[in-house]
Amino acid sequence: MNRADKESPDVHLNLNVRGLPLSATLRINELSNQMSREGRQVYRMGLGQSPFPVPDSVQEELRANAHQKDYLPVMGLSELRNEVSDYILRTEGVHYGPENVMIGPGSKELMFIVQLAYYGDLVIPTPSWVSYAPQASIIGRHIRWLDTDISTHWKLMPMALEALCRSDPERPRLIILNYPANPHGCTYSVEELKTLAELARHYKLVLLSDEIYSGLHHEGKHVSISRFYPEGTIISNGISKWAGAGGWRLGAFAFPKELSWLRDAMATVASETFTSTAAPIQYAAIRAFEGGSDIDHYLKHTRRILKALGGLLTERLREDDIALADPQGAFYLFPDFESYRDRLKARGITTSDDLCRSLLADTGVAILPGTDFGRSPTELTVRLAYVDFDGESALQASEQVPANQSLDEAYLRIHCNSCIEAVARVREWLAK
Ligand code: GLU
Repeated sequence: MNRADKESPDVHLNLNVRGLPLSATLRINELSNQMSREGRQVYRMGLGQSPFPVPDSVQEELRANAHQKDYLPVMGLSELRNEVSDYILRTEGVHYGPENVMIGPGSKELMFIVQLAYYGDLVIPTPSWVSYAPQASIIGRHIRWLDTDISTHWKLMPMALEALCRSDPERPRLIILNYPANPHGCTYSVEELKTLAELARHYKLVLLSDEIYSGLHHEGKHVSISRFYPEGTIISNGISKWAGAGGWRLGAFAFPKELSWLRDAMATVASETFTSTAAPIQYAAIRAFEGGSDIDHYLKHTRRILKALGGLLTERLREDDIALADPQGAFYLFPDFESYRDRLKARGITTSDDLCRSLLADTGVAILPGTDFGRSPTELTVRLAYVDFDGESALQASEQVPANQSLDEAYLRIHCNSCIEAVARVREWLAK
């Protein structure tokens, strides 16, 4: 059972912002920092931050543009908007003109503004990233969670979407699909995207396609749903994940011309709030979206490392009968400890929150409970972000391994050992 079964959407209306906790990802990061400062060993698998450095050429552009001090246009620097438009055309073959690209200080901020400007229900699968629902709550939008299941790789099933839409076909709805997905790394096949796109078209949904992990599809084969529903899909992307620049705070939305009214409303809100995105960062981001052989080289290695590490950790967890779906992109695993329920109950652990709190206290492994991603509190799912390693040295070492080889356990033991150790600690702790 997920939260949708228990909570009426009206629960989310009129929530007082004062007293709300910090976002789960940032809370676990700050707690991990504090524990490290206190001298405790922490395995930092809580915050989903890229372990890799920003590509050199993008860093150079930032240095070269440190002097850029003017306020930039609300919608973003025109050269960058051109580049984002070209990027989408190059990678997806879909044309979103530069006039329909909006740059913001992180895609997270743009997601908040789109929910503010669009008067409709928010539809999200559970599990989903931690901030979609709190943003809707802050604004006072209804949230409709759609349950998914580990046996179908946590993918949104067309039947679930259809059942919701059929119940009130005319209701305005904004649906967010994120793939490769946070918190489990699974993604959709072309056929699955086509089916969901047809439904979205039929029910005139505004579809926000969160493709922040597109560049981290482990095989480099991301496909956007915008190919099949271009007139209703807003693409969300940025440089936080595939270009390692989370702290630079730059995201981009690309709107179909049919949604220019939404784009314009968002621009008004942006003009009254963040004004424009930091100028030097926008100049540097041009280089990231422009791509080229150095960025391709960087992506090839980051994907190879993440694929190998995600695969090994999945294998290790499965050896202990822990259920999880194979990750196909990004850097997350979403295991379910259901098979340990009785043993955990005997230790007083009955919720994913209890599980994460005890694990952190007893082993130093920092992870997030499934409940933060919209799962029922008593389901024993957790999210592990396998990012606790030195990405720079891992990249250098990967460059020494022939391109046609995958990275073996010996490589991972040297370069990503903290993540392997963390999983070993979890397994030892379970066996106690
Ligand atoms: N998206 C990342 C995560 O899920 C961190 C960034 C954030 O939550 O703002 O951990």
